[in-house]
Amino acid sequence: MAIAKRDIVEGPTELKGHPLPELEQLFLNAGERKYRAKQVYDGIYIQRLNDVQEMSLLPQDLRDRLKRDYRTQSVVLKTVQESVDGTKKFLFELWDGRAVESVLIPSEMVVDGEHPRRLTLCVSTQVGCNLGCVFCATGTLKMARNLTSGEIVDQFLEAQKFSTKPITNIVYMGMGEPMNNYDSVMKATQIFTDQRTNMVAARRTTISTAGVIPGIIRMADEGQIIKLAVSLHATTQDLREDLMPLAKKYPLPELIEALEYYYRKTHKSVTYEYILFDGLNDTLADVKRLGRLARRMPTKVNVIPFHEIDFAMPEGFAGVLKPSSPEQFQWFTDSLRAEDVQVNVRSSAGLDIDAACGQLAFSQEGKGE
Ligand code: SF4
Repeated sequence: MAIAKRDIVEGPTELKGHPLPELEQLFLNAGERKYRAKQVYDGIYIQRLNDVQEMSLLPQDLRDRLKRDYRTQSVVLKTVQESVDGTKKFLFELWDGRAVESVLIPSEMVVDGEHPRRLTLCVSTQVGCNLGCVFCATGTLKMARNLTSGEIVDQFLEAQKFSTKPITNIVYMGMGEPMNNYDSVMKATQIFTDQRTNMVAARRTTISTAGVIPGIIRMADEGQIIKLAVSLHATTQDLREDLMPLAKKYPLPELIEALEYYYRKTHKSVTYEYILFDGLNDTLADVKRLGRLARRMPTKVNVIPFHEIDFAMPEGFAGVLKPSSPEQFQWFTDSLRAEDVQVNVRSSAGLDIDAACGQLAFSQEGKGE
């Protein structure tokens, strides 16, 4: 994958975000002992220490050198907002003053004093996004740069401090298109799913793409064992192009072909994300077409309510988008199930704090430019 100039992140070397073999090599290159890298790795991901000075196994002179030569904290928490449903939205500042958001979602709400069984972190992978999906607030921000693997991993480490329960699931579904930052995302994933760190299981980690075909093919060829979700949102090429400009580059028939290739290579099912828009993609014809697409290989369909966003581009096609009524939503999901499709309804967690699907976009002057 070619690296654009704007993808190159400068500044001090990060200590976070290196899988263990890479950290060991980094230490060897710096003239340090290899086993010290493992002690630092364990300090960060097992003991969850932010400050190398707290890593008591390391000699003082090494701690001082690490402190001097490396950036030990990759993201700095600026604000936390909590929804009435328990969802938390975090705003993190990066070393260059830019910012990203992550969302922590208790998937099963507290019932009769019981705690939620699933705790999902929705992680950002880029500052802004240049794909311009018309229903998405992040798409209104100009893409500034890719996140480093350290900045991706650190969102998890910081968010985890706000829950006594362990984060159980990760979805790359925050700001940005993860396939366009593939290497950093997969490096972070290697750390998350490393049995040594015990952070999350691979089967509980999902990469969600707007349909970047080369990334899907690469995942298949590399035999990546994390899950794949695809933002489909339309069953015709014309509507998909109106909703997601990327569809012009990666047309629907080719996308489906790539997903079938992915399934043949990995034997893993794919999840389709499908936001429901009133009168546009919620008709009987859509049910039938979506049913046919979904039955071509083992799939699940997540049907998601559309959340109107105050500051999304109101002009053009975005201006006509409206959520389907609750009755139409129910009819659509029932009809799709009748087509023998496995359907999940995604909730509107965090709606009151603009943390629901498609709502992530910080509004700080000058950020993301
Ligand atoms: S939906 Fe995803 S890919 Fe599309 S603009 Fe928003 S962040 Fe980018």
